[in-house]
Amino acid sequence: MTITRRGFLSASAGLAAMPVLRASAAPLPREADIVVIGAGAAGIAAARRIAAANRKVVVMEAASQIGGRCITDTTTFDVPFDRGARWMHNPDTNPMIRLARSVGLDVLPAPAGQKMRIGRRNARAGEIEEFLAALVRANRTIDEAGRGKLDTSCASVLPKDLGDWAGATEFMLGASFAGKDLKELSAIDKARAQDRNAAIACRQGLGTLITKLGEQAPVALSTPASRIAWSNRDVSVETPSGKIVARAAIITVSTNVLTAGAIKFAPDIPKRTLDAASKLTLGSYDHIVLQLPGNPLGLSRDDILIEQSNSTRTALMFANIGGSSLCSIDVGGSFGRDLSEQGEKAMTAFAREWITKLFGSEAASAIQKTSATRWNASPFVMGAMSAASPGGQLSRKTLTEPIGCMFLAGEATHETLWGTVDGAWESGERAADAALRRIGALRDEPDVPTQSTKKRRAPRQ
Ligand SMILES: Cc1cc2nc3c(=O)[nH]c(=O)nc-3n(C[C@H](O)[C@H](O)[C@H](O)COP(=O)(O)OP(=O)(O)OC[C@H]3O[C@@H](n4cnc5c(N)ncnc54)[C@H](O)[C@@H]3O)c2cc1C
Repeated sequence: MTITRRGFLSASAGLAAMPVLRASAAPLPREADIVVIGAGAAGIAAARRIAAANRKVVVMEAASQIGGRCITDTTTFDVPFDRGARWMHNPDTNPMIRLARSVGLDVLPAPAGQKMRIGRRNARAGEIEEFLAALVRANRTIDEAGRGKLDTSCASVLPKDLGDWAGATEFMLGASFAGKDLKELSAIDKARAQDRNAAIACRQGLGTLITKLGEQAPVALSTPASRIAWSNRDVSVETPSGKIVARAAIITVSTNVLTAGAIKFAPDIPKRTLDAASKLTLGSYDHIVLQLPGNPLGLSRDDILIEQSNSTRTALMFANIGGSSLCSIDVGGSFGRDLSEQGEKAMTAFAREWITKLFGSEAASAIQKTSATRWNASPFVMGAMSAASPGGQLSRKTLTEPIGCMFLAGEATHETLWGTVDGAWESGERAADAALRRIGALRDEPDVPTQSTKKRRAPRQ
C-alpha cells in the first residue's frame, strides 16, 4: 500500500497543420469554430480533439505559459521540479502515461519507499500496520456513508477510536488527498473518487508534458478572456488583444476563477451553475522545495514520508526527488492555507521546523536553496484542486450542463477523477465532443470513445 497523496488508496493526426499563436505572434484571429478558454490539461485536450476533427480552434490563455496547474520549474534548481501536479496515477488506464511516451518523455517507476516518522525515529513495521489498518477503517466508513442518500462530511463519519493514528489518517484522507480537512469534505465526493493507485512521475515533469502536448495548438498566451457574450447560436469572447467570435466555447477555468467573476458573462451564466461551482471550491495544496545536499536525512531516492501527528500542522515529504538533492515538503488543508497566506518565508520556516522536529537541527542546517508554491495566490487558478463541500457532490454533474453554446470542462467537472490531470484531460475531450456535436461536426450517437475513456473502469459507487 502506497502512502502518497493519492497512492494509497489519436488526436495527433490533425495537429501538424495547426497554426501556432504566441503572445507576440500573429494577431488574434477574428473567428473560429470553437474557442477554448484556458490552456491547462483540459484546454489542451479539447484543442487537440477539435483540431483532429478538422475544425478551427483557438485557445486563449491568461498566463504567459501553457500548463495551468501543471507547471515544471526548470530554472530554480539544477533539476526540473513540478510546481503543481506531479503524479500520474492508475498506470493501466491513465492516458497521460501513453501521451508522455508518445512525445518521447521518460516515465519513471512509482516510488518504492514510504516511511512514517514518530518524532525522531522511524515507525516500526507493527506501527505502520496499525496505521494502515486505521486508514482502511476510516476509508471504509467514508465509503459506506458515501453510498447513503445524505451527503455528510467525511469527519462526521470517521471512527472515533483511531487513537494515535487519527491525525495522520485525517491528513492523508483530507489535506493530502483533496487539499481540504475532512470536516469540509463531502463523503459522497470522497467515496466516488476513483482509487488512485501508484504514483508515476515524468522525469522531465508533468508541466513539460502538457507544454509539449500543446506545442502545436493555436494558443494565444497572455490573453485573458474578460467578457463572453453568449447565446444559443454563438459566442463572442473579448480579450485585451481583441474579440473573437465562435460557434461554441469550452471554458476550462477553475471553479474559484469562475465564481470570482474575473470573466463577465452577458447574459449572466445561470445561478445554478455558479451555485454548483461554489460547492466545489478549490482546496489548498503547496510544495515547499528544499535543496538538501549530502542526504542529511538518510532517506532513499523518491522516499515518501509522513509523521504520526496529533494536529493539522503536518506535511508529507517527497525526498531526494529523482535521485537529486531536492526534497518537497507538501502542505495542504486549513493549515496549508493559513501557512501559504503568510508567504514563502513562513512556509520555509515551517519546513525547517518540521525537519528539525523529525531529524534534528543538524539536518535542518543543511538546507540550502528553497522555493515554495502558493497556488491560492495564483491569480488565474486561485487554489489547488476542487473538492465538494458536504452536500455538494451533485454539483459536478450540474457543471457539465451546456450553457447556450458554452461547455464547461476542467477537473472539477469529472465525477470520479476530480482533482487530477487525467480527469482534467478526459473532461476536455468530453467537452470537445459536446461542442463538436453542437456545431454539427460530430454525429449525435454513438459517442466517439476517447483514448482515455475506452478502458476506464466504471465509476465506484
Ligand atoms: C500543488 C498541486 C499538486 C497536484 N498534484 C497532482 C498530482 O500529483 N496528480 C494529479 O493528477 N493532479 C494533481 N493536481 C491537480 C491537477 O494539477 C489539476 O487537477 C489539473 O492540472 C487541472 O487542469 P485544468 O485544465 O482543469 O485546470 P487548470 O490547469 O487550472 O487550467 C485552466 C487554465 O485557465 C487559465 N485561465 C484562467 N482564467 C482565464 C481567463 N480569464 N482567460 C483565459 N485563460 C484563463 C489558467 O491560467 C489555466 O491555465 C495537483 C494540483 C496542485 C495545485
